[in-house]
Amino acid sequence: MDTLRRKTIILFPIPFQGHINPMLQLANILHTHGFKIIVIHTQYNSPNPSNHPHFTFSPIDDNGFSKIAEKLATNLDVTYLIRYLNENCVDPFRDCLAKLLLGDQESTIACVITDAIFYFTQAVADELKLPRLALRTSSMGCVLAYDALPFDSNKTCFCLTKEDSDYEVSVPEYPLLKFKDIMKITSNPQGMGDFVTNMFNQMKASSGIIWNTFKELEESDLETISQDFPTPSFTLGPFHKYFPASSSSLIEQDRTIISWLDKQPRKSVVYVSFGSVALITKSEFQEVAHGLANVGLPFLWVVRPGMVVGSEWLESLPENFQEKMGDRGRIVKWSPQQEVLTHPATGCFWTHNGWNSTLESICEGVPMICSPCFVDQPINARYVSDFWKIGVFLEDGFERMGIEMTIKRVMMDKEGDEIRERISYLKEKVNLSLDKGGSSFQSLNNLVDYISSF
Ligand code: UDP
Repeated sequence: MDTLRRKTIILFPIPFQGHINPMLQLANILHTHGFKIIVIHTQYNSPNPSNHPHFTFSPIDDNGFSKIAEKLATNLDVTYLIRYLNENCVDPFRDCLAKLLLGDQESTIACVITDAIFYFTQAVADELKLPRLALRTSSMGCVLAYDALPFDSNKTCFCLTKEDSDYEVSVPEYPLLKFKDIMKITSNPQGMGDFVTNMFNQMKASSGIIWNTFKELEESDLETISQDFPTPSFTLGPFHKYFPASSSSLIEQDRTIISWLDKQPRKSVVYVSFGSVALITKSEFQEVAHGLANVGLPFLWVVRPGMVVGSEWLESLPENFQEKMGDRGRIVKWSPQQEVLTHPATGCFWTHNGWNSTLESICEGVPMICSPCFVDQPINARYVSDFWKIGVFLEDGFERMGIEMTIKRVMMDKEGDEIRERISYLKEKVNLSLDKGGSSFQSLNNLVDYISSF
């Protein structure tokens, strides 16, 4: 333990909630194993150091990334944001890392752990002769799908329209996905192809890959990954089971809803949240509201300010919606999601299938309704609905009748009971993997030993 104590790990998250959470959870996990932690972060979405007094924080200049990130509100081409970060953070990151290496007298810097999306960091780490581990914050299935899809050819699968007859057909390169899913992944296949190539090359060049997943969930994909990425892989997730996400929340979580949940019957509440980035149109927003009203169950709905395109917050709700719903429905700006999912009143999770949300739902055995928006979400959603069969896909978007029927399938039908059984089984598997001797427990020990050996 004494030698470990003197070792420092430097971490560098992508500045979005779904990436900051797992990176800071990982930092906490490694800290409890005796490592000192330094977090390098962009100015945009900087974590609050007072929530992590045991870490040191080093901000770097991101060349005005907040202005670029604002574009997400009108254009969901994330590849542009990724490229911007990878091109503009090089010098600030190198300078910061070099300074930290020079200044660290009483402990040894063992390695740097950066988000796999920060592919530029591999060259910087190589230059400074520091091992780099890549943290991949999405699923292994997503990596395999990205690897298989023909992003950079002019094949038609990215150019279909809703009217094309192939829309419902499986994609030959990755049959779990339908053509309609592919269209959602990206609006810029060429940019996505470039990003994926860069990310994969630098993951392969890294000293190891850390995955926020657990072996039993993605066992078959893990085998393929081990062949495609012959660098050491560590599957010690789900990270939030060691440390909750609340301390890295960028928006204040509304905790008043816990006492409301306490008053609801067991497994009766429909929890609705589309994460920190996804957007919906005004008409989709209204359809969600009508669907929730018509199904007649209690609901807790997270509406982030700015989530509805062209609205500040709730202006586009149907007239008198909140008055009509009364105490049956609660709308909040941001929830303590993990606690909501753990709460016995929560019956299902209508989600965009961000990977953190998907894992959080699996860990609590809460069945999902899948409404993915973009990038990895359509892939996660297909795994949830068609492979693990622990949720139902809300096919073809937001429309009140479809919403009502889908919620009923999960909450009231026999199909819902079967889904609940399957996800409860996975919940048990998670717990076993985290227990002493389990696969995640073992993988964490392997990671600690590996980093200690640097
Ligand atoms: N989250 C939360 N409160 C909310 C909604 C989400 O704390 O009201 C957290 C959630 O628990 C998860 C993260 O925000 O850890 C969202 O990450 P995810 O990968 O699911 O989606 P993203 O926001 O990246 O699209």
